[in-house]
Amino acid sequence: MFLFLGTRELNRNETLLTGSQCTYCDQENTLIETRYDTYFHLFWIPLFKVGSQGHTQCTHCKRIEFIE
Ligand SMILES: [Zn+2]
Repeated sequence: MFLFLGTRELNRNETLLTGSQCTYCDQENTLIETRYDTYFHLFWIPLFKVGSQGHTQCTHCKRIEFIE
């Protein structure tokens, strides 16, 4: 019997960071912050939260920077 377990992302939330500037291409107001919670799942049913993660992505140069 196979056990399907692992982690999956839930509660994905995207926000445009106004007044921000990309550190790579220097464009303003191009950064979108994405945050999500990571859950441990068993058969795709979330059991408990293992952490929160996030990153910003520039809509101009597509560079992604991860946030702690
Ligand atoms: Zn950029």
